[in-house]
Amino acid sequence: MNLEKQYGGIDSFRVIAALLVVAIHTSPLLSINETADFVFTRIIDRVGVPFFFMATGFFLLPPFLRKEGRPQSVIRLLAKCGKYYGIATLIYLPILFYKGYFQEEASFPAVVKDIFFDGTFYHLWYFPAVAMGACLLILLLQQFSSKMVFFLAFGLYGIGLFGDSYYGFVENVPWIKTGYEWLFAFSDYTRNGIFFAPVYLLLGGIIAEQKRPLSKKACVTGLLLTFSLLLAEGLWLHQLSVQRHDSMYIMLIPVMFFLFHWLLLWGGRSNAAWRSASMWIYIIHPLCIILVRGLAKVTNLSWLLVENSLVHYGMVVLASVIGSLLIVQLTARKKAKPFPKGRAWAEINLDNLRHNATVLQNILPSTCKFMAVVKANAYGHGDVQVAKELNRAGIFSFAVATLAEGVTLRQHGIKGDILILGYTHPKDIPSLKRYRLIQTVVDYSYAAMLEDIGEKIRVHVKVDTGMHRLGESYSHIDNLKAIFGCKHLLIEGIYTHLSAADSLRSSDVAYTRQQIGRFYDAINQISHSGYAIPRIHIQSSYGVLNYPELDCDYVRVGIALYGAYSHPLDQTKMSVDLRPVMAVKARVSAVKEIPAGDAVSYGRDYIASRPMKIAVVAIGYADGLPRNALGSQGQVLIYGHRAPIVGKICMDQMMIDITDIPGVAQGDTVTIWGQDGAEQITAEQIAANSNTITNELVSRIGSRLERVYIRHKQAK
Ligand SMILES: *Cc1c(COP(=O)(O)O)cnc(C)c1O
Repeated sequence: MNLEKQYGGIDSFRVIAALLVVAIHTSPLLSINETADFVFTRIIDRVGVPFFFMATGFFLLPPFLRKEGRPQSVIRLLAKCGKYYGIATLIYLPILFYKGYFQEEASFPAVVKDIFFDGTFYHLWYFPAVAMGACLLILLLQQFSSKMVFFLAFGLYGIGLFGDSYYGFVENVPWIKTGYEWLFAFSDYTRNGIFFAPVYLLLGGIIAEQKRPLSKKACVTGLLLTFSLLLAEGLWLHQLSVQRHDSMYIMLIPVMFFLFHWLLLWGGRSNAAWRSASMWIYIIHPLCIILVRGLAKVTNLSWLLVENSLVHYGMVVLASVIGSLLIVQLTARKKAKPFPKGRAWAEINLDNLRHNATVLQNILPSTCKFMAVVKANAYGHGDVQVAKELNRAGIFSFAVATLAEGVTLRQHGIKGDILILGYTHPKDIPSLKRYRLIQTVVDYSYAAMLEDIGEKIRVHVKVDTGMHRLGESYSHIDNLKAIFGCKHLLIEGIYTHLSAADSLRSSDVAYTRQQIGRFYDAINQISHSGYAIPRIHIQSSYGVLNYPELDCDYVRVGIALYGAYSHPLDQTKMSVDLRPVMAVKARVSAVKEIPAGDAVSYGRDYIASRPMKIAVVAIGYADGLPRNALGSQGQVLIYGHRAPIVGKICMDQMMIDITDIPGVAQGDTVTIWGQDGAEQITAEQIAANSNTITNELVSRIGSRLERVYIRHKQAK
């Protein structure tokens, strides 16, 4: 599983946090009400900067908390901070110059103080603070236990508090005041890399190390509660007029804890563009304030653009966002994405996919839901794109084989129920909840394990009626009842799988009928014990095509959805107009002539019986083509003609005979299976040639083939 991918919540909030920081510097509510402005800019907005510290700590600190951190990651952070700080300083240099900084303030100690603590421009203190806070923490973590470091960071924050929002309480104690005055000689505020940053950096790291996510309810309740207390704290301090500055509150720490946990639950894909856009909004917004004010002056619109604080804020946000997006766009490294049809590719026809889903649903009873089986990358068709298309077609039930497959779908925003058909390791059970996945109870002992975890888990119970793969045996009624007795299992379904539904031989039909009978018997007995029967399902593709009379709550359809039968010439009871979804194509990489008697490919077992023209095609067994299959009588299509494959298929390429097909040139398209003019080669034929079924053939099509998604131009 790619963990980098699931932090969409954090990345979206980066943008929000940056806009909160902009609000701190523009006071959007000022022209409306002073208290509202105080509450918004001096309390609520204060979550912005701690959030940025936490996000940094979240990704940086976990290895250091485990005492396995490496200096490279710190160096990378320092380099990044240095880069942004340097660029930002350059941006503001002319303004500093204009304001007379170099004429009046720029003594050597003042410059050093500004660079390391106060920032070269007023909001840029953030960069030295992150760098200093991270270095301080990492040094401490090398010396002391994590717990000790946490107390130290808290202690530093405490010192910071009394130099910030709580200053009025200690201001009158002479020796303390002297101490703080000494501190303020180094740094205008205690809101800096020593007293402010460490606690939040560390909090981010600690949250990253927590094994279990908080529940949404806990996050929201905790956030509401601590946030109210934060408001009370801020207003109280304001009332007492003890604040020297208003960055640091006690309640801000628990607020940030719950907020950050909640953001982790938002999920969604990480977004590098938002990451850098938020950073640029942070950096350039003061410049935008100056620009908006300048514009107001020139246009005589100050009464609107400056004096109306909301409009002012809106203008600054607009300018900052547009400016940031421009910078991101201009500085984005142009990724050299290869031409998808450059070498070999699989064309996925989304219209045919939709068509198959529709015709299959049409033969089902109206109460039966269509569960699309999208395991194994949707049988090689691309699980995310297939599931997205089905979502658009109104299908909201999916089945996958593994937890990771389900997680991938969720990370790409697939809606609806996702059932995991296979086993999930106990350590991964928390992910079920996090990604709203439904687990199959693979047998009684698995149910007992789930029950012991003691948390509500959504499941479907599988019954083994004769396939002898997963499922609790239909004959162990007591075990089945015990599964239904599990308090923590939210049983939403019960199902079985047929082992010979594809065959119409009478012995196989009798066996299938027996399996179905065993399943319903088990259900009846469970029901007699007083348990409510959840949704039931039995049929996969051939179950639907050969046993359409079964009236279940779901069908689990895989191969038929992709428009293929497992074997060519399969007879089924229902005949349905299924259309193949995948075609595989590749480029001619070279054309050459060889004399009679020469051998082609490895092993010299293909000998040219006449002078021949051959084409090398850029696809091989590493792309998922069966090496043995196409070998002897294998053919491909080019210019609407069949061309025999000659010689052994290699890892990345193969050769075809084009002696009788004129005009073939380097770069031409070869169809491995699919339609070319009047000719067609089906996946079924290729699978049969290699003694396998289409299910295996398509699901093994490798990741080296780009999936190219197509629709008919004339979509209705
Ligand atoms: C793979 C699978 C299916 C889908 O099978 P098809 O024959 O491709 O329709 C259904 N149910 C279970 C349990 C499966 O493992």
